[in-house]
Amino acid sequence: MGSRINRRGFVRAGTAASVSLAIGGKAEAAAPQVMQRSAATPVVVSSDNGNVYRNGGSQTAVEKSFQMMMGGSDVLDALVAGVNIVELDPLDTSVGYGGLPNADGVVQLDSSVMHGPKKRAGGVAALEGVRTPSLVAKAVLEQTDHHLLVGEGAQRFARNMGFAIEPDLNTERSRGRWLEWKRRTDPLHYLDPKSRSDAECRVRAEMVAEGLMDGRHQYGTINCDGVNAKGEICGVTTTSGLAWKIPGRVGDSPILGAGLYVNGEVGAAGSTGRGEANLFSLASYQIVENMRLGMHPKDAAIDVCRRIQKNTIEKRLLNDGGHPNFGLEFYVINARGQYAGVSLYEGQRFAVCTEQGARLEPMESLLSGKP
Ligand code: ASP
Repeated sequence: MGSRINRRGFVRAGTAASVSLAIGGKAEAAAPQVMQRSAATPVVVSSDNGNVYRNGGSQTAVEKSFQMMMGGSDVLDALVAGVNIVELDPLDTSVGYGGLPNADGVVQLDSSVMHGPKKRAGGVAALEGVRTPSLVAKAVLEQTDHHLLVGEGAQRFARNMGFAIEPDLNTERSRGRWLEWKRRTDPLHYLDPKSRSDAECRVRAEMVAEGLMDGRHQYGTINCDGVNAKGEICGVTTTSGLAWKIPGRVGDSPILGAGLYVNGEVGAAGSTGRGEANLFSLASYQIVENMRLGMHPKDAAIDVCRRIQKNTIEKRLLNDGGHPNFGLEFYVINARGQYAGVSLYEGQRFAVCTEQGARLEPMESLLSGKP
Protein backbone atom coordinates (compact mmCIF):
# COMPACT_ATOMS: atom_id res chain seq x y z
CA MET A 1 0.00 0.00 0.00
CA GLY A 2 1.33 3.47 -0.85
CA SER A 3 1.61 6.28 1.60
CA ARG A 4 -1.99 7.25 0.96
CA ILE A 5 -5.01 5.07 1.42
CA ASN A 6 -8.53 5.99 0.53
CA ARG A 7 -11.07 6.72 3.24
CA ARG A 8 -12.87 3.41 2.86
CA GLY A 9 -9.52 1.64 3.17
CA PHE A 10 -8.64 3.74 6.21
CA VAL A 11 -11.96 3.07 7.91
CA ARG A 12 -11.69 -0.65 7.14
CA ALA A 13 -8.13 -0.79 8.47
CA GLY A 14 -9.11 1.14 11.57
CA THR A 15 -12.15 -1.06 12.20
CA ALA A 16 -10.17 -4.27 11.76
CA ALA A 17 -7.58 -3.05 14.21
CA SER A 18 -10.10 -2.11 16.87
CA VAL A 19 -12.05 -5.37 16.41
CA SER A 20 -8.95 -7.49 16.87
CA LEU A 21 -8.02 -5.44 19.92
CA ALA A 22 -11.47 -5.91 21.38
CA ILE A 23 -11.56 -9.65 20.71
CA GLY A 24 -8.03 -10.44 21.79
CA GLY A 25 -8.10 -8.16 24.77
CA LYS A 26 -4.35 -7.90 24.20
CA ALA A 27 -2.38 -5.89 21.69
CA GLU A 28 -0.72 -8.99 20.31
CA ALA A 29 -3.31 -9.57 17.57
CA ALA A 30 -3.31 -6.00 16.31
CA ALA A 31 -0.89 -4.66 13.77
CA PRO A 32 0.22 -1.15 14.66
CA GLN A 33 -2.55 1.24 13.66
CA VAL A 34 -1.01 3.83 11.37
CA MET A 35 -3.09 7.01 11.33
CA GLN A 36 -2.85 8.05 7.74
CA ARG A 37 -4.93 10.93 6.52
CA SER A 38 -7.10 9.96 3.59
CA ALA A 39 -6.54 11.73 0.30
CA ALA A 40 -8.97 14.49 -0.53
CA THR A 41 -10.18 15.93 -3.80
CA PRO A 42 -9.07 19.56 -3.54
CA VAL A 43 -11.92 22.04 -3.66
CA VAL A 44 -12.76 25.60 -2.67
CA VAL A 45 -16.38 26.65 -2.16
CA SER A 46 -17.83 30.06 -1.36
CA SER A 47 -20.88 32.24 -1.57
CA ASP A 48 -21.66 33.27 -5.15
CA ASN A 49 -19.82 36.61 -4.87
CA GLY A 50 -16.64 34.53 -4.64
CA ASN A 51 -16.93 33.84 -8.35
CA VAL A 52 -18.28 37.23 -9.43
CA TYR A 53 -16.04 40.05 -8.18
CA ARG A 54 -12.47 40.55 -9.43
CA ASN A 55 -11.60 44.05 -8.13
CA GLY A 56 -10.33 44.94 -11.58
CA GLY A 57 -8.03 41.89 -11.73
CA SER A 58 -8.28 38.66 -13.64
CA GLN A 59 -9.21 36.22 -10.87
CA THR A 60 -12.20 35.69 -8.62
CA ALA A 61 -11.82 34.70 -4.96
CA VAL A 62 -12.30 30.97 -5.54
CA GLU A 63 -9.91 30.98 -8.50
CA LYS A 64 -7.20 32.75 -6.53
CA SER A 65 -7.66 30.56 -3.46
CA PHE A 66 -7.64 27.36 -5.46
CA GLN A 67 -4.59 28.35 -7.46
CA MET A 68 -2.62 29.27 -4.34
CA MET A 69 -3.75 26.12 -2.55
CA MET A 70 -2.65 23.93 -5.46
CA GLY A 71 0.65 25.82 -5.58
CA GLY A 72 1.36 24.64 -2.04
CA SER A 73 0.31 27.70 -0.02
CA ASP A 74 -1.17 27.21 3.39
CA VAL A 75 -4.91 26.67 2.88
CA LEU A 76 -5.93 29.56 5.14
CA ASP A 77 -3.47 31.95 3.48
CA ALA A 78 -4.96 30.97 0.13
CA LEU A 79 -8.57 31.48 1.23
CA VAL A 80 -7.87 34.84 2.85
CA ALA A 81 -6.03 36.04 -0.27
CA GLY A 82 -9.13 35.04 -2.23
CA VAL A 83 -11.66 36.88 -0.05
CA ASN A 84 -9.36 39.94 0.01
CA ILE A 85 -10.35 40.44 -3.65
CA VAL A 86 -14.00 40.77 -2.64
CA GLU A 87 -13.26 42.84 0.46
CA LEU A 88 -11.32 45.35 -1.62
CA ASP A 89 -13.78 45.48 -4.52
CA PRO A 90 -15.98 48.56 -4.03
CA LEU A 91 -18.68 46.99 -6.19
CA ASP A 92 -19.55 44.33 -3.61
CA THR A 93 -21.64 46.29 -1.13
CA SER A 94 -21.75 43.45 1.40
CA VAL A 95 -18.08 42.99 2.28
CA GLY A 96 -15.13 45.18 3.30
CA TYR A 97 -14.50 48.48 1.52
CA GLY A 98 -17.76 49.88 0.17
CA GLY A 99 -19.87 47.57 2.36
CA LEU A 100 -23.23 49.08 3.29
CA PRO A 101 -22.88 51.02 6.56
CA ASN A 102 -24.82 50.87 9.83
CA ALA A 103 -27.66 53.18 10.78
CA ASP A 104 -25.17 55.95 11.65
CA GLY A 105 -23.55 55.70 8.23
CA VAL A 106 -20.44 53.96 9.59
CA VAL A 107 -19.08 50.80 7.97
CA GLN A 108 -18.49 48.17 10.69
CA LEU A 109 -16.96 44.88 9.61
CA ASP A 110 -16.97 41.34 11.04
CA SER A 111 -14.75 38.39 10.14
CA SER A 112 -13.51 35.04 11.40
CA VAL A 113 -10.95 32.49 10.28
CA MET A 114 -10.34 28.89 11.34
CA HIS A 115 -7.33 26.70 10.62
CA GLY A 116 -8.15 22.98 10.72
CA PRO A 117 -4.68 21.41 11.01
CA LYS A 118 -3.42 24.01 13.48
CA LYS A 119 -6.71 24.00 15.43
CA ARG A 120 -6.53 27.76 15.72
CA ALA A 121 -9.05 30.53 15.19
CA GLY A 122 -9.35 34.30 15.16
CA GLY A 123 -12.05 36.87 14.68
CA VAL A 124 -12.89 40.56 14.77
CA ALA A 125 -16.26 42.24 15.18
CA ALA A 126 -17.58 45.75 14.66
CA LEU A 127 -14.18 46.75 13.29
CA GLU A 128 -14.02 50.18 11.66
CA GLY A 129 -11.42 51.58 9.27
CA VAL A 130 -9.72 48.45 7.88
CA ARG A 131 -10.68 47.30 4.39
CA THR A 132 -9.64 43.69 4.94
CA PRO A 133 -11.01 42.46 8.28
CA SER A 134 -10.15 38.86 7.34
CA LEU A 135 -6.44 39.78 7.54
CA VAL A 136 -6.99 41.26 10.99
CA ALA A 137 -8.87 38.08 12.03
CA LYS A 138 -5.86 36.08 10.78
CA ALA A 139 -3.56 38.32 12.83
CA VAL A 140 -5.70 37.56 15.90
CA LEU A 141 -5.21 33.86 15.12
CA GLU A 142 -1.47 34.19 14.57
CA GLN A 143 -0.41 36.82 17.08
CA THR A 144 -2.66 36.48 20.12
CA ASP A 145 -3.91 34.06 22.70
CA HIS A 146 -7.49 35.20 21.95
CA HIS A 147 -10.20 34.27 19.48
CA LEU A 148 -12.21 37.47 19.19
CA LEU A 149 -11.47 41.19 19.40
CA VAL A 150 -14.21 43.78 18.99
CA GLY A 151 -14.81 47.45 18.24
CA GLU A 152 -12.19 49.95 19.33
CA GLY A 153 -9.96 47.25 20.79
CA ALA A 154 -9.96 45.39 17.47
CA GLN A 155 -9.06 48.60 15.67
CA ARG A 156 -6.27 49.41 18.10
CA PHE A 157 -4.92 45.88 17.64
CA ALA A 158 -5.06 46.29 13.85
CA ARG A 159 -3.18 49.60 14.07
CA ASN A 160 -0.54 47.99 16.26
CA MET A 161 -0.19 45.17 13.74
CA GLY A 162 0.57 47.72 11.03
CA PHE A 163 -2.78 47.91 9.26
CA ALA A 164 -3.69 51.26 7.78
CA ILE A 165 -6.71 52.71 9.58
CA GLU A 166 -8.88 54.81 7.32
CA PRO A 167 -11.32 57.37 8.67
CA ASP A 168 -14.18 56.11 6.51
CA LEU A 169 -14.74 53.00 4.41
CA ASN A 170 -17.77 54.32 2.60
CA THR A 171 -17.62 54.78 -1.11
CA GLU A 172 -19.67 57.44 -2.81
CA ARG A 173 -22.04 54.66 -3.74
CA SER A 174 -22.51 53.18 -0.24
CA ARG A 175 -22.84 56.66 1.31
CA GLY A 176 -25.42 57.57 -1.33
CA ARG A 177 -27.45 54.48 -0.51
CA TRP A 178 -27.28 55.24 3.22
CA LEU A 179 -28.39 58.80 2.65
CA GLU A 180 -31.32 57.57 0.63
CA TRP A 181 -32.26 55.15 3.41
CA LYS A 182 -31.96 57.90 6.01
CA ARG A 183 -34.04 60.30 3.95
CA ARG A 184 -36.79 57.73 3.56
CA THR A 185 -36.84 56.25 7.05
CA ASP A 186 -36.19 59.30 9.13
CA PRO A 187 -37.75 62.32 7.51
CA LEU A 188 -38.53 63.94 10.86
CA HIS A 189 -35.54 62.52 12.72
CA TYR A 190 -37.49 59.94 14.69
CA LEU A 191 -40.77 58.18 14.24
CA ASP A 192 -42.42 56.13 16.94
CA PRO A 193 -40.77 52.65 17.12
CA LYS A 194 -43.59 50.77 15.37
CA SER A 195 -43.81 53.19 12.44
CA ARG A 196 -40.05 53.26 12.29
CA SER A 197 -39.76 49.50 11.99
CA ASP A 198 -42.62 49.39 9.46
CA ALA A 199 -40.89 52.15 7.53
CA GLU A 200 -37.60 50.25 7.58
CA CYS A 201 -39.19 47.10 6.14
CA ARG A 202 -41.09 49.07 3.52
CA VAL A 203 -38.06 51.10 2.50
CA ARG A 204 -35.82 48.05 2.23
CA ALA A 205 -38.40 46.39 -0.04
CA GLU A 206 -38.76 49.59 -2.12
CA MET A 207 -35.01 50.04 -2.49
CA VAL A 208 -34.63 46.40 -3.57
CA ALA A 209 -37.53 46.75 -6.05
CA GLU A 210 -36.00 49.92 -7.48
CA GLY A 211 -32.61 48.24 -7.90
CA LEU A 212 -30.91 50.49 -5.32
CA MET A 213 -30.05 47.47 -3.17
CA ASP A 214 -29.34 43.92 -4.13
CA GLY A 215 -32.05 41.88 -2.33
CA ARG A 216 -29.48 39.48 -0.98
CA HIS A 217 -27.26 42.29 0.18
CA GLN A 218 -29.49 43.68 2.85
CA TYR A 219 -27.52 40.81 4.23
CA GLY A 220 -24.36 39.81 2.35
CA THR A 221 -21.01 38.30 3.15
CA ILE A 222 -18.42 36.01 1.71
CA ASN A 223 -17.71 32.67 3.29
CA CYS A 224 -14.93 30.62 1.66
CA ASP A 225 -13.83 27.11 2.66
CA GLY A 226 -11.17 24.89 1.16
CA VAL A 227 -9.50 21.51 1.45
CA ASN A 228 -6.24 20.58 -0.25
CA ALA A 229 -5.05 17.19 -1.51
CA LYS A 230 -3.60 16.40 1.92
CA GLY A 231 -7.04 16.84 3.47
CA GLU A 232 -6.10 20.10 5.24
CA ILE A 233 -9.24 22.17 5.79
CA CYS A 234 -9.63 25.89 6.58
CA GLY A 235 -12.33 28.53 6.33
CA VAL A 236 -12.92 32.29 6.42
CA THR A 237 -16.01 34.48 6.63
CA THR A 238 -16.01 38.25 6.17
CA THR A 239 -18.82 40.78 5.98
CA SER A 240 -20.13 44.28 6.47
CA GLY A 241 -23.14 42.59 8.08
CA LEU A 242 -26.73 43.65 7.93
CA ALA A 243 -27.21 46.94 6.07
CA TRP A 244 -28.37 49.82 8.29
CA LYS A 245 -27.89 47.72 11.45
CA ILE A 246 -27.97 49.26 14.90
CA PRO A 247 -24.40 50.47 15.52
CA GLY A 248 -22.54 47.78 17.41
CA ARG A 249 -24.73 44.96 16.14
CA VAL A 250 -22.61 41.87 15.53
CA GLY A 251 -23.93 39.07 13.35
CA ASP A 252 -22.92 35.46 12.95
CA SER A 253 -19.86 35.98 10.72
CA PRO A 254 -17.19 36.49 13.43
CA ILE A 255 -18.71 33.97 15.84
CA LEU A 256 -17.10 30.54 15.80
CA GLY A 257 -19.76 27.89 15.30
CA ALA A 258 -22.20 30.36 13.74
CA GLY A 259 -20.78 32.10 10.65
CA LEU A 260 -17.94 29.58 10.40
CA TYR A 261 -16.81 26.31 11.88
CA VAL A 262 -13.93 24.04 10.97
CA ASN A 263 -13.06 20.68 12.46
CA GLY A 264 -9.74 19.71 10.87
CA GLU A 265 -10.59 16.00 10.85
CA VAL A 266 -14.16 16.39 9.60
CA GLY A 267 -14.93 19.42 7.47
CA ALA A 268 -15.98 23.05 7.35
CA ALA A 269 -19.22 24.97 7.15
CA GLY A 270 -19.90 28.68 6.80
CA SER A 271 -22.85 30.86 6.20
CA THR A 272 -24.41 33.94 4.67
CA GLY A 273 -27.86 35.36 5.28
CA ARG A 274 -29.76 36.33 8.42
CA GLY A 275 -27.10 36.09 11.10
CA GLU A 276 -29.54 36.18 14.00
CA ALA A 277 -31.12 32.89 12.90
CA ASN A 278 -27.72 31.35 12.55
CA LEU A 279 -26.51 32.61 15.94
CA PHE A 280 -29.54 31.16 17.64
CA SER A 281 -28.88 27.68 16.22
CA LEU A 282 -25.06 27.74 15.99
CA ALA A 283 -25.70 26.26 12.60
CA SER A 284 -22.18 25.88 11.21
CA TYR A 285 -21.09 23.95 14.30
CA GLN A 286 -24.15 21.72 14.01
CA ILE A 287 -23.48 21.03 10.35
CA VAL A 288 -19.89 19.99 11.06
CA GLU A 289 -21.10 17.85 13.97
CA ASN A 290 -23.60 16.17 11.66
CA MET A 291 -20.75 15.38 9.27
CA ARG A 292 -18.68 14.06 12.16
CA LEU A 293 -21.50 11.62 12.80
CA GLY A 294 -21.29 10.45 9.20
CA MET A 295 -23.64 12.67 7.21
CA HIS A 296 -22.87 13.93 3.72
CA PRO A 297 -22.38 17.74 3.56
CA LYS A 298 -25.73 18.20 1.86
CA ASP A 299 -27.73 16.12 4.37
CA ALA A 300 -25.85 17.69 7.27
CA ALA A 301 -26.93 21.17 6.17
CA ILE A 302 -30.51 20.29 5.20
CA ASP A 303 -30.98 18.81 8.67
CA VAL A 304 -29.81 22.08 10.23
CA CYS A 305 -32.06 24.14 7.94
CA ARG A 306 -34.97 22.10 9.33
CA ARG A 307 -33.87 22.95 12.84
CA ILE A 308 -33.69 26.65 11.96
CA GLN A 309 -37.17 26.51 10.51
CA LYS A 310 -38.39 24.90 13.73
CA ASN A 311 -36.70 27.58 15.81
CA THR A 312 -38.42 30.35 13.87
CA ILE A 313 -41.73 30.95 15.60
CA GLU A 314 -41.93 34.73 16.04
CA LYS A 315 -44.67 36.12 13.86
CA ARG A 316 -42.54 39.01 12.58
CA LEU A 317 -40.10 36.43 11.17
CA LEU A 318 -42.72 34.40 9.31
CA ASN A 319 -44.20 34.95 5.88
CA ASP A 320 -47.86 34.45 4.96
CA GLY A 321 -47.24 30.72 4.49
CA GLY A 322 -45.89 30.45 8.04
CA HIS A 323 -42.32 29.89 6.85
CA PRO A 324 -39.20 31.96 7.68
CA ASN A 325 -39.28 35.32 5.89
CA PHE A 326 -35.49 35.46 5.50
CA GLY A 327 -32.76 33.72 3.57
CA LEU A 328 -29.87 31.69 4.93
CA GLU A 329 -27.22 29.81 2.98
CA PHE A 330 -24.55 27.30 3.93
CA TYR A 331 -21.31 26.30 2.18
CA VAL A 332 -20.02 22.94 3.30
CA ILE A 333 -17.05 20.68 2.59
CA ASN A 334 -15.82 17.50 4.20
CA ALA A 335 -12.33 16.09 4.61
CA ARG A 336 -12.64 14.04 1.41
CA GLY A 337 -13.47 17.08 -0.68
CA GLN A 338 -17.19 16.34 -0.99
CA TYR A 339 -19.10 19.59 -0.90
CA ALA A 340 -22.56 21.16 -0.93
CA GLY A 341 -24.25 24.53 -1.07
CA VAL A 342 -27.53 24.48 0.83
CA SER A 343 -30.00 27.31 1.31
CA LEU A 344 -33.27 27.72 3.13
CA TYR A 345 -34.99 28.76 -0.10
CA GLU A 346 -34.53 27.62 -3.70
CA GLY A 347 -32.99 29.63 -6.51
CA GLN A 348 -29.58 30.40 -4.96
CA ARG A 349 -26.17 29.57 -6.38
CA PHE A 350 -22.75 29.12 -4.84
CA ALA A 351 -19.19 29.24 -6.15
CA VAL A 352 -17.01 26.16 -6.56
CA CYS A 353 -13.46 25.76 -7.83
CA THR A 354 -11.90 22.38 -8.54
CA GLU A 355 -9.32 21.12 -10.99
CA GLN A 356 -12.12 21.46 -13.57
CA GLY A 357 -12.19 25.24 -13.00
CA ALA A 358 -14.43 27.78 -11.28
CA ARG A 359 -18.19 27.89 -11.69
CA LEU A 360 -21.47 28.73 -10.00
CA GLU A 361 -23.58 25.72 -9.06
CA PRO A 362 -27.23 25.66 -7.93
CA MET A 363 -27.76 25.24 -4.20
CA GLU A 364 -29.90 22.52 -2.66
CA SER A 365 -32.76 23.94 -0.65
CA LEU A 366 -35.20 23.02 2.09
CA LEU A 367 -38.10 25.20 0.95
CA SER A 368 -39.52 26.12 -2.40
CA GLY A 369 -40.50 29.64 -3.39
CA LYS A 370 -39.16 32.83 -1.89
CA PRO A 371 -38.85 34.08 1.69
N1 ASP B 1 -24.69 36.81 8.01
C1 ASP B 1 -24.33 38.19 7.94
C2 ASP B 1 -24.81 38.88 9.16
O1 ASP B 1 -25.88 38.57 9.65
C3 ASP B 1 -24.88 38.91 6.79
C4 ASP B 1 -25.04 38.11 5.56
O2 ASP B 1 -24.43 37.11 5.37
O3 ASP B 1 -25.79 38.51 4.70
O4 ASP B 1 -24.14 39.78 9.60
